Amino acid sequence: MKPAAFAYAKARSLDDAIRLLGEHKGEAKLLAGGQSLIATLNMRLSHPSLLVDINGVAGLDGISVKNGMVEIGAMTRHVTLERSSDIAKHAPLIAQAMPHIAHPAIRNRGTIGGSLAYADPAAELPACLVALDGEIDIAGPKGKRSVRAGNFFKDLFETALGTYDVLTAVRFPAAGAQTRAGFAELARRHGDYAMVGLAAVAKASGKSLSDVRLVYFGVGATPVRVRKAEDALARGSVDDAVKALDLDPASDIQATADVKTHLAGVLLRRVARQLLGET
Ligand SMILES: Cc1cc2nc3c(=O)[nH]c(=O)nc-3n(C[C@H](O)[C@H](O)[C@H](O)COP(=O)(O)OP(=O)(O)OC[C@H]3O[C@@H](n4cnc5c(N)ncnc54)[C@H](O)[C@@H]3O)c2cc1C
Repeated sequence: MKPAAFAYAKARSLDDAIRLLGEHKGEAKLLAGGQSLIATLNMRLSHPSLLVDINGVAGLDGISVKNGMVEIGAMTRHVTLERSSDIAKHAPLIAQAMPHIAHPAIRNRGTIGGSLAYADPAAELPACLVALDGEIDIAGPKGKRSVRAGNFFKDLFETALGTYDVLTAVRFPAAGAQTRAGFAELARRHGDYAMVGLAAVAKASGKSLSDVRLVYFGVGATPVRVRKAEDALARGSVDDAVKALDLDPASDIQATADVKTHLAGVLLRRVARQLLGET
């Protein structure tokens, strides 16, 4: 299918992008990597009157590590994260997740900002950001604000972004010497959206874990944190953690609710081994 007709504007700056969104009163959409947006236009699931292209807006991309925090600009491409030595060293969870996101051609264009703003419930990066207790920077007509990742994802494809807002960057604590990351997902084919996935971080001291954060994707409308399982894992029992899982996934075209629930337990055992340094 072909998209409905739309106008196109290349934003010259962040302020220009916000102004263009405001002038079109909810009829305009930002264009980042286009890897989700263009598909929704082609399928006529979305028909904005204007695309505001933020490729080329200065200050929206790049990775920096300072004061114990990793900051990633919204327009940073998946491929840049995948190949970054800073990400490998300071954000091992993101490094582990990247190869699972789609295919190389899509990772060449897709951006972290686009992935978080689109908020597909089966996407990897939203769950990683929640696991990392990250913050998301937003600029809009009333100025700038930051939202904790745990409060950013509101519902199915719904976030804390307003109609005229631009997601500008994300920030999260850099991994320390004791930080361990765990990541696993099950997809029908490599590169497909996951049936179920799990992103995790913890502090490890020998075989003992603390500050465990386990965040599932593909099992609800938003990333789902499983606090009872986190507590059980921190107390040292993987079996108890699996028993404590209180997920309530809906069946979808990928798998039934029962299959998803079973797979969630399988993934938790795999990720627990990574957190415990057994792989
Ligand atoms: C075949 C295929 C397989 C895929 N598989 C996966 C997968 O396994 N896992 C996965 O996570 N993703 C997958 N994707 C999606 C891919 O990762 C996209 O790149 C990503 O979801 C959107 O990023 P984008 O930069 O392309 O955003 P775009 O497509 O340009 O935009 C997506 C939406 O976000 C909005 N937006 C974009 N940037 C901003 C911003 N800075 N501020 C506010 N709003 C913004 C846009 O207006 C639009 O509504 C797949 C895509 C395809 C086509």
